[in-house]
Amino acid sequence: MRYRYSCPACETVSRPYALRGMADAHADDHRHRHHDGDHPWGEDIVTEPGAAWWDIPRGQAIASVIVLVVLIAAALTR
Ligand SMILES: [Zn+2]
Repeated sequence: MRYRYSCPACETVSRPYALRGMADAHADDHRHRHHDGDHPWGEDIVTEPGAAWWDIPRGQAIASVIVLVVLIAAALTR
C-alpha cells in the first residue's frame, strides 16, 4: 500500500509514501507552507495498491538504509 496526500485547494497530490505517517508529515508541512496551518476542505490521504520495495521513493530507501546502518552500528558498539 502506498499513501499520497491530496489537497483539492491546490489541486495537487504528493509523491507516494510507503508509510502513512510520512504522508501525514507531508500534509502537515503542506498546510503550514501553503495554508497557514489550516486544513483545506476535502484534503485526504489516498491509498494505492501494489507497493513493493522497489516502489519506495529513492530518498526514502536511502534514508531507511542509513537508519538501519546506524542502528546496527549502535547495537554493535554497546
Ligand atoms: Zn494546498
